[in-house]
Amino acid sequence: MQHISETQVDQFQAVLLSSLEELRLGMTDILMRSSHTSHNLAAKQLQKISADDLLELALKIEMPSISHKISAMRNIDAALNNIQIGMYGLCADCEEEIDTKRLNSDATTQRCLNCENRYQKQKYNNYKL
Ligand SMILES: [Zn+2]
Repeated sequence: MQHISETQVDQFQAVLLSSLEELRLGMTDILMRSSHTSHNLAAKQLQKISADDLLELALKIEMPSISHKISAMRNIDAALNNIQIGMYGLCADCEEEIDTKRLNSDATTQRCLNCENRYQKQKYNNYKL
């Protein structure tokens, strides 16, 4: 496994930011089409706020049709925060480096393969309880 370079981190950051913009556009679109005035207003706000405020506002909107976009935004936000603190590309559980292949397929990946498997299993078990 190779160490993730600063250039790669920059590239991942660009990918993350453009996914965030895509989500912003998608959400704006859905909210504009809503029959609720409050959603239309939120859509207008969404268009002009910063990425940080975007997430904060998105979390306040209760609308099942955008909930998966909001969870995607949370993941992006977490990844961007990790870039800021220099922890990007490290597993959230064991702090080992995450395989860049995993990051390439999903730039918001937060765990190495081993920990991800364990995490998914735990989640599954929690559902059963
Ligand atoms: Zn791990």
